[in-house]
Amino acid sequence: MEKRDIIIIGSGPAGLTAAIYIARAGYKPLVVEGVPSGGQLMITTDIENFPGFPDGIEGPRLIENMKKQAQRFGTEFLMKDVTEVDFNVYPFFIQAEDLEYEAKAVIIATGARARYLDSASVEAFKGRGVSACATCDGFFFRDGIIYVIGGGDTAAEEALFLTKFAKQVYIVHRRDQLRAEKYMQEKLFENPKISIIWDSVLEDIKGSNTGLNKIVIRNVKTGELTERDADGIFMGIGHSPATALFKGQIELDENGYIICRDGAKTSVDGVFAAGDVRDPLFRQAIAAAGTGCKAAIEADRFLQNKQ
Ligand code: NDP
Repeated sequence: MEKRDIIIIGSGPAGLTAAIYIARAGYKPLVVEGVPSGGQLMITTDIENFPGFPDGIEGPRLIENMKKQAQRFGTEFLMKDVTEVDFNVYPFFIQAEDLEYEAKAVIIATGARARYLDSASVEAFKGRGVSACATCDGFFFRDGIIYVIGGGDTAAEEALFLTKFAKQVYIVHRRDQLRAEKYMQEKLFENPKISIIWDSVLEDIKGSNTGLNKIVIRNVKTGELTERDADGIFMGIGHSPATALFKGQIELDENGYIICRDGAKTSVDGVFAAGDVRDPLFRQAIAAAGTGCKAAIEADRFLQNKQ
């Protein structure tokens, strides 16, 4: 079993920022990247709100830059998935497929994934009109007709954000009542650019190689199918934090996100969490990088006290 001072699980902006900071503090961190690596930025085309890039930067390029920066200070990368952890023993136990490690500190940065509807047409138009991130892609639908699927706070937030660009935003919700909090509902109802299509689900998407142009919606009560013009479709059916591995080992909230105190401390001393895996609210690359920095600084303090 290989012994390490610190292992970082995840290679999105949180994990990579943590690696840069902890490597510069004099450690040789191992980043277990996860497969596919790089997190949600790898499926983001242009990032125009990450400070320092006045002309924007492509998601994969930003990740590549962060990775190079972390490597420059001595970070090692392992292109495998973590398959098991044991935080009840110390040093902590981590298994990455066929490799076993002992680590004195761990930073969890496994992220969260936006959920997409499980349908062939959604899969076919992903990145060509179907998105799950209004902040990332809303800009590309200026003056368009956009549909947001879902009735919770994510859908409400996406819809409200999209009104900045869209001509019209339709929320397609499978029931006759929203799940979003009252305050958000009121904001939706009073926005003239937003209409809600109740009791309805996405049945099909039509378009060509260049993008989508029609959506087919099914009313779940009447069975009626309606085809409508569409420029974009956003999934707002929730996010899932990647915490299945940690259930029963560290404290999670009722939605599965890691609960942190101070900068990035979890309920287990020596285990820290950064990025979307502990953040149900902001879900931005820069916010993830910020908590990655905090996790590294706290991990450094923890390791210094151990020596
Ligand atoms: P939620 O689980 O609250 O809502 C998901 C929505 O998507 C529901 O309306 C659900 O419908 C619908 N949905 C789920 N699966 C399907 C499907 N297969 N087909 C059609 N519709 C589907 O997730 P959110 O991401 O919205 O919120 C998660 C948590 O994060 C909540 O606690 C929320 O309050 C919080 N949050 C807070 C924000 C804020 O405070 N600003 C912003 C975003 C999230 P149904 O209602 O019928 O179940």
